[in-house]
Amino acid sequence: MAPKKKTSPLILKKEDIPNFVSKLTQILTVYGPVAKKSQFIFDTITDGTQLRLDYDTTILPPKKYFIPPEEEMVKFSLKPELKIQNPLDEKNTESLWNGKRFLIFGIHSCDLTAIKFHDHILTQVYPDPYRAQRRDEGIIIGVNCLTPCEDGFCKSAGALNTTETADLMLTELNNSYYVDVLTTIGKEIVDYCKTQFSSATQQQVNQVKKIIAHRAKSFPDPLKEFQKLPGQLEDSYEGEMWNRLGRRCFGCGACTMVCPTCFCFDVKDQIELDTTKGSRVRKWDSCQLVDFALVAGGHNFRPTIPSRVRYRIYHKFWIEPEQINQIGCVGCGRCTHTCPADIDMIELLTEIEKGGN
Ligand code: SF4
Ligand code: SF4
Repeated sequence: MAPKKKTSPLILKKEDIPNFVSKLTQILTVYGPVAKKSQFIFDTITDGTQLRLDYDTTILPPKKYFIPPEEEMVKFSLKPELKIQNPLDEKNTESLWNGKRFLIFGIHSCDLTAIKFHDHILTQVYPDPYRAQRRDEGIIIGVNCLTPCEDGFCKSAGALNTTETADLMLTELNNSYYVDVLTTIGKEIVDYCKTQFSSATQQQVNQVKKIIAHRAKSFPDPLKEFQKLPGQLEDSYEGEMWNRLGRRCFGCGACTMVCPTCFCFDVKDQIELDTTKGSRVRKWDSCQLVDFALVAGGHNFRPTIPSRVRYRIYHKFWIEPEQINQIGCVGCGRCTHTCPADIDMIELLTEIEKGGN
C-alpha cells in the first residue's frame, strides 16, 4: 500500500475526465464503473468516455480485482521433473511506468471501507499473499457518493466518510471534480497528467466542506444501534427469526457473491488428462451453499438453510468484530438488491436490534 502524502487540493474539469482516463490507459490497466443495461459494473476502461461516475452501485464490488473470482495459485509440471511456478515470484510494484500495474477509478466510500476491512483481516487474521500482491499493484481513485443508493445504509455502518485506501479522492463540484491527493502514488498520477489539473481556490475548498457536511445530515441512518449489534446477537442465537428467514432463503449464495467484505474461497487441483502438468486454483465460495461445511465422512456442520443464514450474520456481526474489532458489513445494500427471496438486510438487522426472537 502506498505511503500517505497530503498535498493541496486540485480541480479537474468534468470535460477533461475522458482525456485524463485515456492518458492513464497508456501506462496502466484502468477499471471503472460502466453501464450494463439498467445497472452498472466495474469493467476495463479502454476509452475515457465509457466511465460513468454518476453510477449508484455496481453488481459486483471492485473486490474482484484484488481477489479474483477464480485465480491460479501455482502451476506445476511433473515431467521430466517436478517444476512449480508461483505468480507471487513476479512482483510488479516498483514503478508506475512498467505497464503492469492497474488503477480502479471511481470507488465509493462503502467499497473503500470494505478494502480497508480486507487490509486488516487478510493480513492480521488470515494472511493472504495473493491478495496482498494485487493490493500493492492496485491504485485507487475514490469518488464521494452524494446521493444515497436504494438499499444502502453506509451511514449507519460508519462507511460514509471513508477516504482511507484511496490514492486520490474526488468530490463532484458543479462542472468539475475537487481532487484530494492522499498518497505519493496519487501525486505521481497527478504529476503525470498535470496539464489537466488546476489548484482549488479557497472558495472551492469551502464549498466542498459544505457539500460533505450536508451529506452527513441528508443520508439515511436506519440502524442507529449498528455498532451494538455484536452484543445484541449474543441473545439471539436460539431466536425463531433464523427459522423464519431460513424458510424464505433459497440457499443460492448470491448475497455472499456480491458482498464486498466476503472472502471465502475453495481450492482445487486441476491436472491435465496426461498427468504431465496442472495447476492449483482457488474460486470464490459461499457459506450459504449446502456443501460449504461438508467434511470428509459426510458430516455437515451446517446442513440446514436456517443454520447457514444464521452463520452468515454471526460471522459478519459477531465473529469478525471479535477478531479485528470491525463489523464485516459496510452497508452497501448489494445483498438486499440481489436476493431473489427479498431478504432485506436493514429489516433483518432491525429485527436483531429489537431482540431477535
Ligand atoms: S452484508 Fe450486504 S450490505 Fe453488508 S457489505 Fe455485504 S453486501 Fe453490503
Ligand atoms: S441471496 Fe437471498 S436467497 Fe440467496 S442465499 Fe442469500 S439470503 Fe438466501
